[in-house]
Amino acid sequence: MSTLPDETPASDPDTAVDRDVVVVGGGAAGLSAAVFLARYGLDTLVLARGNSAIHQCAHLENYLGFPGGLSPQRFLDLGRAHAEAEGATVEADHVEAVDPHEDGFAVETQDGRSLVTRYLLAASAYDGEYLSAFEADLESDDEHDFLVTEAGRTPVDGLYVAGWLTRDTVHQAVVNAGDGARAAIALARDDLTDRYWPAIGERYVDWVVDDDRYGGDGWHEDVDDWFDREMVVEDLDVDSERVEQAREDLKAEFLDRGIDEAERERRERHGQQRLLEHLEDDLVLDRAREILAAREAADLDALEAGE
Ligand SMILES: Cc1cc2nc3c(=O)[nH]c(=O)nc-3n(C[C@H](O)[C@H](O)[C@H](O)COP(=O)(O)OP(=O)(O)OC[C@H]3O[C@@H](n4cnc5c(N)ncnc54)[C@H](O)[C@@H]3O)c2cc1C
Repeated sequence: MSTLPDETPASDPDTAVDRDVVVVGGGAAGLSAAVFLARYGLDTLVLARGNSAIHQCAHLENYLGFPGGLSPQRFLDLGRAHAEAEGATVEADHVEAVDPHEDGFAVETQDGRSLVTRYLLAASAYDGEYLSAFEADLESDDEHDFLVTEAGRTPVDGLYVAGWLTRDTVHQAVVNAGDGARAAIALARDDLTDRYWPAIGERYVDWVVDDDRYGGDGWHEDVDDWFDREMVVEDLDVDSERVEQAREDLKAEFLDRGIDEAERERRERHGQQRLLEHLEDDLVLDRAREILAAREAADLDALEAGE
């Protein structure tokens, strides 16, 4: 759900930018960040090569939503599928160096990629070596070299950090996924702040709601009141044309969040179908046979009861 125009800087032929954002790392933090960045509307590339720390876990049993736990590989496959479903690209490559660039960051990889990105989100757990060009700016924990961040932000403009690579986290997958989301939202908010102004950036969240929540009778007037009260802050140094553009963009974003009953049902079904793809065929077939047997037994009972 994005307030971004269709043309993002990465698609502008007049800039050297190849991607809006490169995420380094495809573990819980990086993949979760990619979900939020892509949903915000950024052209998002995840580069990951090498093992995730989660491969050292024998069976992941404390990640919310999986009552019987799941294997670390299935967890990563689901995370990758989710990031890709939202529009991110996930590729296997090792980031060797990141340097400052006038349009953001220049990224060099093991496979010979050389690309420019506006933003970089580092979620590479034990490996922060490729960030050595920024060493003087990045504060780190003396003992383990964990980077210090503020909600994923670093002192380097456009550089965000999440997950095990940071000091202010807990080494558990669900927390690191949260770190990735938090850093991505910080990035999205900063991006919106650059496009509009801070009050607009700070309100950004990524929600889907029922379509009758916004747009009914009096809604435009209510939003206008709210906008004038909360967004047009005192001392706002933005010309009126831009203020009106922001108002219209925000309204469009609210309306874009709403889905109707039919769409809700379609998404609910689609979501379950996507989950099914990640289950082993034999288990799906076993379960299908159980369901069929239960249905046949219920039909037989109904027949015997004369229903
Ligand atoms: C023994 C052990 C058991 C654990 N058991 C559990 C458990 O039961 N439950 C739980 O919640 N947590 C567990 N954890 C913790 C969990 O593994 C971490 O919290 C989680 O994996 C951290 O996520 P992350 O995304 O920050 O890092 P990671 O998952 O480690 O991901 C880092 C990613 O960065 C990539 N990468 C690194 N450097 C580069 C580079 N230069 N270029 C490109 N890609 C790069 C890697 O390939 C990887 O994809 C366990 C950890 C260990 C060590």
